[in-house]
Amino acid sequence: MISQADCDCFYSRSSSRAWGDACGVFGLLAPSTDDLSRMCYFGLFALQHRGQESAGIAVGGNGGIDVHTGMGLATEVFDEDDLTRMRGETALGHVRYSTMGSNVIENAQPFIGEHSSGPFAVAHNGNVVNARALRCELEDCGTEFEATSDTEVITQLIARSPQDSIEKAIAEIMPQLEGAYSLGIITPDRLIAVRDPQGVRPLCIGRLNHEGWVVASETCALHPLGADYMREVEPGEIVTLTPNDLESMQVMDPDRKACCIFEFIYFARPDSHIYGRSIYQSRVRMGHMLARQAPIDADMVMPVPETGIPHAVGYAEIADIPFGEGFIKNRYIHRTFIKPSQRMRSLGVRMKLTPLREAVAGKRLVVVDDSIVRGTTTGPEIGLLRDAGAREIHLRISCPPIKYPCFYGIDTSAGRSELIAARMNKQQICEHLGADSLEFLHLPNLVKAVGLPKSNFCTACFNNRYPIPVPDDLRGTKFDLEEATARA
Ligand code: SF4
Repeated sequence: MISQADCDCFYSRSSSRAWGDACGVFGLLAPSTDDLSRMCYFGLFALQHRGQESAGIAVGGNGGIDVHTGMGLATEVFDEDDLTRMRGETALGHVRYSTMGSNVIENAQPFIGEHSSGPFAVAHNGNVVNARALRCELEDCGTEFEATSDTEVITQLIARSPQDSIEKAIAEIMPQLEGAYSLGIITPDRLIAVRDPQGVRPLCIGRLNHEGWVVASETCALHPLGADYMREVEPGEIVTLTPNDLESMQVMDPDRKACCIFEFIYFARPDSHIYGRSIYQSRVRMGHMLARQAPIDADMVMPVPETGIPHAVGYAEIADIPFGEGFIKNRYIHRTFIKPSQRMRSLGVRMKLTPLREAVAGKRLVVVDDSIVRGTTTGPEIGLLRDAGAREIHLRISCPPIKYPCFYGIDTSAGRSELIAARMNKQQICEHLGADSLEFLHLPNLVKAVGLPKSNFCTACFNNRYPIPVPDDLRGTKFDLEEATARA
């Protein structure tokens, strides 16, 4: 039976997989700009692929911070009046896919806090794995919570710090936080960027018109604003941005980097760069590796749109088999209209993807996709291609089998039992999906395709080697803090 998580993910992005995206953070310092909130909105628009459940913008100026959040896409949350009304010198935006806490308005970000030095707003991408323990300690000291997300825990820790600045407060709490946190923070006159010591989630800095700054989850959000890429926020670093200055504090030494390798496979937009590597080129090289590792005689290589496209381009190049489109994707379907029932799910596959009968009938196809998570949509897709007359379907997947959940900012709320590769071997998956053959890219080839040493990456969802210890009480669900609250 399909879960809510399956349904959301499926309709939010790719048709072949069902793993929630990370969140997107976008911060802006532009004191002489009239259209600050609108620029922030454009930044969120570029990061919308990282989360579609809720969106929010906080604007700082004149000693205060104003915030507007809502459920849904950025285009649904903000109207002309909001963008005209919210004026200031700093702005912070967030698009959310819930990885801790429910998909409810109380958990929408940015969160607003009040420190002794003044107000601040926080937007977070990642998962703090010891949030439950930290929240219990804060509650014991009398802190009251309104939401159930780890971001509120971070906000409260900063707010309660006795340090005399926000930056010193962040530096004080960083050693307490375990897990993944790429943070954008604004005060009424400063933009601050923070990254956990392992650098699990990306975060970069851009320069805007010589007196402005941008902080974004991905470099793809810099281009629409005309900002120039400066550099990444380093793991363990706090960066403070004021109109003419960039101040860096290396608070924690990264003992071991653990950038999420899934950003390269699927999450990040193909026009982004992480650690200086092009996401698009990395995916094409994954396709190259896959073609060398798992060749097959066929008539056409086709992607599962859209994230499978560069992988399939790479496969076709090395295999010397024509690349073609076998599915046409309807880009305008919205997940809100689809309910998580079995009937609606299979209808949803048909609404989102239509096989191009003229392209696939009578052909032996290599179907390339980035990943298989639960496997609940790949089977129906293969069924569509068979109905359209495909003669053979050889499935090629650009990463190893996903056998373990993610605890660092990707929604695997259903746990390990729903991961198809945790329950079945390759042959069983192939039969279950109805493919003629199935191959997964081997981990060493995946790492080679990205082009950085393996020691830079988290690969835990493939090999169970979690770079940051995960407390037993988190190995449940993303609703951990709610369950803890209910029991209290
Ligand atoms: S467990 Fe997988 S998805 Fe999560 S951070 Fe590690 S590589 Fe990324």
